Amino acid sequence: MTATLDRGLNALREQIDAPVASFFTSCVSCGLCAEACFFYKESGDPKHTPIHKLDLMQRMWSEEYTLLGRVRGLLGLNKGISDDDLAEWHELVYDTCTLCGRCTLVCPVGNDITLMVRKMREGLSAAGHGPEEMIGAAQRHWDKGGPMGDLWKALGAHIARIEKTTGLSINVDKEGVNYLVILSAQEVAEFNDVIEAMARIFDKAGVSWTFSTEALEATNVGIQIGSSDIARELVSRVVNAAEKLKVGGIVSPECGHAYQALRWEGPNLIGRSYPFEVVHIIELLDRLAAEGKLKTKGTDDAKITFHDPCQINRRGGINKEPRRLLGMVTTDFVETEDAGVMNWCCGGGGGVGSNESATELRLKTFKRKKKQFEDVGAEKVVTMCAYCHHILEESLEHYELDDKIEVQGLTELMAEYLDD
Ligand code: SF4
Ligand code: SF4
Repeated sequence: MTATLDRGLNALREQIDAPVASFFTSCVSCGLCAEACFFYKESGDPKHTPIHKLDLMQRMWSEEYTLLGRVRGLLGLNKGISDDDLAEWHELVYDTCTLCGRCTLVCPVGNDITLMVRKMREGLSAAGHGPEEMIGAAQRHWDKGGPMGDLWKALGAHIARIEKTTGLSINVDKEGVNYLVILSAQEVAEFNDVIEAMARIFDKAGVSWTFSTEALEATNVGIQIGSSDIARELVSRVVNAAEKLKVGGIVSPECGHAYQALRWEGPNLIGRSYPFEVVHIIELLDRLAAEGKLKTKGTDDAKITFHDPCQINRRGGINKEPRRLLGMVTTDFVETEDAGVMNWCCGGGGGVGSNESATELRLKTFKRKKKQFEDVGAEKVVTMCAYCHHILEESLEHYELDDKIEVQGLTELMAEYLDD
C-alpha cells in the first residue's frame, strides 16, 4: 500500500463516526434518495444514485466496524479499498454530486446523505484523488487569498470607479462598523455591479460597513474539495479579520457555499461560536425593508421567476426573504414547479461547475431547469448566488436561450429600483 493511499484511507476512517454507523444501519433501501437526485434522474445510470456514491464508505464501515466484517476479515474474505477504487469513485463524489441536499431532505429515516458525500471527499482528497481544478483553486486560496488569486487590485479599481461615479466612500479596514462585507471571487471578477448595489443600498439604509484587506474572499474551497484543515484555516481568516475590526457582523454575499461554510459549518470547524452575527445579504436586505430602511420606487414588469440556491434555501433556511423582496419590485412574478426547498440545483454547486470532466453531464442535467423556466415562460431568472448566476447564464447560452431569458442577482435588482 502506498503512503498516499494509506493517508486517504486513514482520512476516510477518521470520518467514520456515530452518524455514519447510524446511516448504514438505518437505511431501508427505499430508493427515494435516487428519485431526488438530478444526476441519477437525468442519466438513469444506477452508479449515479446517492447510495452508490457512498459505497466505499459503507464497505469500510462494514468490513472494519461490524462484527460480521471483522470475522470475514479474519477469514480473508474482505475486499478492502484499493487506489483504483478511489480513482473510480472520483467521478461519483466530485463530478456527479453538487452537495445540493435534495436527497437528504427526502430520506424517510433522516439520513444526511450530503454529509456522507462530503465525508467521502475527505478520504479522496487526502489520497490525491481530488479534482485538479479544485486542488489549484485551494492552493491559490491558501497562498494568495482567493481561488482566483489575489483580487485586491481588481477590487481596488472597482472601489475607485464606484466612489467616482456615486460620490460614496467605501471603507477598507475600518474598525467598529456594523458589518464586514466579504465577496466571492465570482462577484469581483464577473458580477461586480453587486458592489455598487450594496454600497448604494447600505448608504440609504444608514448601515456602516467595510471591506478587510485581510479577508476579502467568502468562498471556501476546503469545504468543496473535502479538506477540513483547509476549510478551518479559511474560516479562521475571516473570523479573525472580523474580530480585529470589532464589527457587529459579517455580511455573507450572494454565494451559496460561502454562506454554508461560514454560517453553518464555520463554528464547528473552528471549535467555537462567533461573537458576532453572520447574515446573508438577502436576509439583511429583507430586514432593512421590514424596518422601512430599504424603500423602492418602480417595478420590473418582465415575467420573472426565482432560482433558489441549494445552500441558501434548502440547506440554509432562506426562503421567504427573497420572495418578500421580489414582491416589492416585480409585477409578474411566477414560481417554477418545485420552487423553494425542493428546487433543483443549477448543476454547478459543490465545485462541480469548475470540474471540466463534469461539464457534459452537468449540461445534460440542466434540461430539467431549462424546462422549468420554459414552462412558466420566464423572461428573467433572479437568483441570490453569483455562482448559480454564472452557471445559469452559461447553461442558457449552451441551449441558445441566453437572448430569451436574462439572469440577474437579487441585490442588483433591488438597487435598480432603490428609492433615492
Ligand atoms: S446531494 Fe444532490 S447531487 Fe448529491 S447525491 Fe444528493 S441529490 Fe444527488
Ligand atoms: S432515502 Fe434514506 S433510507 Fe431510502 S435508500 Fe436513501 S438513504 Fe436509504
